[in-house]
Amino acid sequence: MSRAISGCTSSHKPSGLRRDLTLEGRRLKMESPAAGVLPAAGCGLRRLVKVSISRVFAGSGGGVPRAQVKSTRRAKASPSPPASAAVNLLPDGRWTSVFRRTLRTWFDGARRDLPWRKNRDPYRVWLSEIMLQQTQVAAVIGYFERFTRAFPTVADLAGASEHDVLRLWEGLGYYRRARQLHKAAQTIVAEHGGVFPSRPDAVRNLPGIGRYTAGAILSIAFNQQEPILEANTVRLLSRLSAYRGDPLAREGQQLLWEFAEHLVPAHEPGLFNQALMELGALVCTPRNPKCEACPAAKLCPTRRLGLQAEIPRPKAKRSFEAVREAALLLSRADGKFLIVQSAEGERWGGLWDFPRYAVDAEQSAAAIVELQAKLKATVGLDAEIGDLRTTLKHGVTRFRITLAAYEATLLGGRLKLQGFAAARWVREGELAAFPLNVTARKLAQLIVKGKSTT
Ligand code: SF4
Repeated sequence: MSRAISGCTSSHKPSGLRRDLTLEGRRLKMESPAAGVLPAAGCGLRRLVKVSISRVFAGSGGGVPRAQVKSTRRAKASPSPPASAAVNLLPDGRWTSVFRRTLRTWFDGARRDLPWRKNRDPYRVWLSEIMLQQTQVAAVIGYFERFTRAFPTVADLAGASEHDVLRLWEGLGYYRRARQLHKAAQTIVAEHGGVFPSRPDAVRNLPGIGRYTAGAILSIAFNQQEPILEANTVRLLSRLSAYRGDPLAREGQQLLWEFAEHLVPAHEPGLFNQALMELGALVCTPRNPKCEACPAAKLCPTRRLGLQAEIPRPKAKRSFEAVREAALLLSRADGKFLIVQSAEGERWGGLWDFPRYAVDAEQSAAAIVELQAKLKATVGLDAEIGDLRTTLKHGVTRFRITLAAYEATLLGGRLKLQGFAAARWVREGELAAFPLNVTARKLAQLIVKGKSTT
C-alpha cells in the first residue's frame, strides 16, 4: 500500500530512502497496527514523502502487524505538519476481525460477575458507569447495591431528596456526580415519562452524561454500535496502536476515539465494549501489564517493541500543596452542635461539615483569633475556642490538608450565612442522618464516641 501523506500536493519524484518506523518515534509518535497514512518526516511545500506500509502477519490468525515506512524522497529540513493531519491509528480489516474474535472469546471466560451486569437495564448501566468514574470496582459494588435497593428505578431516584441521595453517596467522592445523577433522573421523569431514552442525542443531553457514558449506555443497554473511551480503554488502545503521543491531549483523544469507533462491531457492541474495559482493567494494567496472559499479545505492537512502560505516555508528575485548615466543633448550652452545608460550586457542594476554615496564622494564639473572626464573618456567631480535639490529614485533588479540629463554645451572636448554603444546630445522634464529607464524618464519630482518634 502506498499513499501520499495527507495534505501534500507537491509532485516531486521519490528517492527511495527507507526508514524503520520504530526509529522515528518522535516524529511518527506511533506505530500503527496497520495504518494507512503515517507521518514520516514532515511534508513541506518543497517535497513529497510517500509512505509505504507493509504488514506481515505471523501465523494464520493475524499475528503481529509490522509496519515499514519507505520515504521515497530524501526530505529537506522543513517543519513537520501537525501530526493530526497525518496520523491514523486504524488497523486493517483482518487485524480488526481477529482482535474482535479473540477479545470476545477471552471475555466469555474472564468476565467478572458484577452486580450491574445482571441485566441490561439502562438505569443500572448508567448508575454503574457514573459510580465507576475515577473509582475502583471494589469500592463501587457496595454503593451500587445500597443505592439500587433504596432507589430501584429512575422514578424512585427522581422522587428522592438530594439530602438522601448524597447520604447514600457519602464516601464515594466526586459528589457532583451524585447531584447530576439526581437531576438527570428528574429530567428523565419530566421529559421522557420516566423511561430511559434510547436516542443518542437525548442520552447525551442528560446532565452529567458525556461521550463515554453515553456510549456505554447506548451500547450495553440498547445494543447500539457506539464506541467508548475511558481510562482503561485509553491505555489499552494506546498500546494496541503503539501511540506515543499524549493520549489525553486533543490529538490523542481524537485518534483514540476514531480507533474505538473503528473497533466496535455491529453485533453485540455492548459486550465488546465491556470486554475492552475488562481487558484494560484486568490484564493491560497501568504497571506491569500481564502480556503473557493477554489474548491480544500477538496483535500488540507495544508488546513487540517492549514499550509497555512508555505507552501510554506517563503523565507529568503532579505537585502537591500543603494546606492548614481548622474545623470548629461548636456547641451551645443545649448540647447541640453547629453544622453547615457547603454551597453549590464549592468543594463538597451539598454536603454538610463543621464550620471549617483555612488557617493563615502560624502561632496558635493568632490562629484562634483568626478562627473567631472567620466564624463571625461566615455565620455571625461569637465563640470561645478551646482545646484541640484531634488532627486529621487527608488529600483533596492537589492539596494535602492538615485539619485541626477544636472544641468551641457558643458565646452569642445571631446566626447568619455568608458563603455556606445552610446551617443547623443538631444533636449528636442526628449527625448520622446528614450527608457529611469524609473528615466531618470522622469528627462526628469522634463526638458520638466521646474519644479522640489521635
Ligand atoms: S500485550 Fe501487553 S501491552 Fe499489549 S494489550 Fe496485551 S497486556 Fe496490553
